[in-house]
Amino acid sequence: MNLPSRNDVPPLGRPSGPVLPHMPYGTNWVCRDCQPPAAWPCPDARARLLKEYEKDRIGMHLYLAAAMVRACQDMPTMPAGLLLGRFIGWAR
Ligand SMILES: [Zn+2]
Repeated sequence: MNLPSRNDVPPLGRPSGPVLPHMPYGTNWVCRDCQPPAAWPCPDARARLLKEYEKDRIGMHLYLAAAMVRACQDMPTMPAGLLLGRFIGWAR
């Protein structure tokens, strides 16, 4: 099976529209805007997600789960538990 890579698909949750700040970049899923580069979701991205999904926490978790699945594909040697904590563990 040939799954699309992260770079083949539009930004998560934003099939069209403006490019948002603090979005993931590259196959290491680092923040596009943070300096030095931070693992995505960076603190600013997390704050934005919490605000954007304030009334739809299930939707936020689905979004983050989809991102984690793509990250697992992009970083196949990264332990899944680390990705789980990074992408979803903070969002309780
Ligand atoms: Zn950032």
